[in-house]
Amino acid sequence: MNIVSFSRHCFILVLYLSAMNNLPTKTCLACEKILKGRIDKKFCDDYCRNSYNNQQKADSSNYARNIINALRKNKRILESFLGNQETVKTTRDRLLFNGFSFNYHTHTLANRKGNVYTFCFEMGYLPLDHDWFLVVKREAQS
Ligand SMILES: [Zn+2]
Repeated sequence: MNIVSFSRHCFILVLYLSAMNNLPTKTCLACEKILKGRIDKKFCDDYCRNSYNNQQKADSSNYARNIINALRKNKRILESFLGNQETVKTTRDRLLFNGFSFNYHTHTLANRKGNVYTFCFEMGYLPLDHDWFLVVKREAQS
């Protein structure tokens, strides 16, 4: 090896090492150990891949389940206010006191007058003046 080819080798080696140092260290998405090997690797092994994917699924179904539970609770509360009546008026405080959450609803509907009803499934409410609410039930459409 002559001096020119030696220095070229060194140069390439330096380039290679600096490229290696600039690589972000990637860690396993499941156990956070540093990953070695292919650059597109995300997990140590199948065990980590499976446990990560299962956790993701559990998280997203917990998220959905919590929202559905909140919606069902809202629906039950509106039903308890309405009883057998067609409509009933109540206040924001009474709804809140019973655990109603205004954050969760399934959809809104506007009537011809432009009043917008907010629904939790078939149970809905219309905000009136001074924090009063009209509670209604809408029969399921076929
Ligand atoms: Zn891992």
